[in-house]
Amino acid sequence: MGVPFLDLRAPYAELRAEIDAATARVLASGWYLLGPETEAFEAEFADYCGAEHCVSVASGGDALELVLRAWGIGPGDEVLVPGNTFIATWLAVTAVGARPVPVEPDLITHTVDTARLEAAITPRTRAVIPVHLYGQPADLAAVRAVAERHGLAVLEDAAQAPGATWAGGRIGARGSTVAFSFYPGKNLGSLGDSGAVVTSDPELAAKLRLLRNYGSQVKYHHEVAGKNSRTDELQAAVLRVKLAHLDAWNDRRGAVADYYRSELSGIPGLVLPEQTEGTTHAWHLYVVRHADRDGLRAALERAGVATLVHYPIPPHRCGVYADSHPGPLPLTERLAREVLSLPIGPHLSAAQAARVATAVKHICANLAFPLAS
Ligand SMILES: *Cc1c(COP(=O)(O)O)cnc(C)c1O
Repeated sequence: MGVPFLDLRAPYAELRAEIDAATARVLASGWYLLGPETEAFEAEFADYCGAEHCVSVASGGDALELVLRAWGIGPGDEVLVPGNTFIATWLAVTAVGARPVPVEPDLITHTVDTARLEAAITPRTRAVIPVHLYGQPADLAAVRAVAERHGLAVLEDAAQAPGATWAGGRIGARGSTVAFSFYPGKNLGSLGDSGAVVTSDPELAAKLRLLRNYGSQVKYHHEVAGKNSRTDELQAAVLRVKLAHLDAWNDRRGAVADYYRSELSGIPGLVLPEQTEGTTHAWHLYVVRHADRDGLRAALERAGVATLVHYPIPPHRCGVYADSHPGPLPLTERLAREVLSLPIGPHLSAAQAARVATAVKHICANLAFPLAS
């Protein structure tokens, strides 16, 4: 048996009794949308994050898009985004008619290089979206300082970072506005698509509640051009079950990351991820770098270790942005060539992690490499 990258049967197996009870409760209730489970999950998740409000929506992508819409960002506006992110971050900006303006990453943290933000700002810039990529919180102090100087709104993309902490509080605390995804493979995963916005701004929360429900608060009275973007009761009930286990599961991810670091440190040519000072990494992904990434990946596959690349084609190189963003973004493109995600998760066994580490060690000893720096 090889080591799979991710096995989504394992989390269900661990929580089967609780999840089955929760879904049975919803099925029997006859109430499937915007009911008691959604309300309870929103209260519990806001509380977990240390925020006043949580508005659940249909996906992480919708969470990003609806906040931009609620802020009135649209055609003619620019929004700063990381060059290296999942394309949903960019597509949310495009969806409201604004222009995503990429900023290059820091090669160590893989989050946006905040020293480069200011140079990308123009009179049209309205907002910045730092992404807590792979579960590592971005340098929010630096992002907020730049945003304040230039009057920009800050929307955090924490699709990969529920439960991560920054400066002693969870992502979502202390007045921030944050988009989360509950896609099944994420740290807090539902059994389908769902997402949420967490904020302590009551006006924004109220606007989002309208926007996610066809612009309607009172049935058949439609105040704004909203859409259908709701988390259903089944997903909310499952998310309530899983939220209670999130910290413990993130700790288990952290234990795998610690093990990889202890086993893989000092291998020439292999760059390991680091948790930056003052943060807790959510370890959604364990992303290493190697100049011969493709060679390492192919050899791992032959050794029975499944890996993935997050992400092989940066957004500006995707067809959808071919005309508007010709690049080049050399650091983003370098990461796309060199990054490799090793298996990690709360259900990766010690034996599986050992098998991954042993294979990486053996393979790297035989790979030629120009030193990554
Ligand atoms: C998963 C993800 C999204 C989108 O979430 P969906 O729920 O799939 O729409 C956005 N940004 C990042 C960084 C993600 O990883």
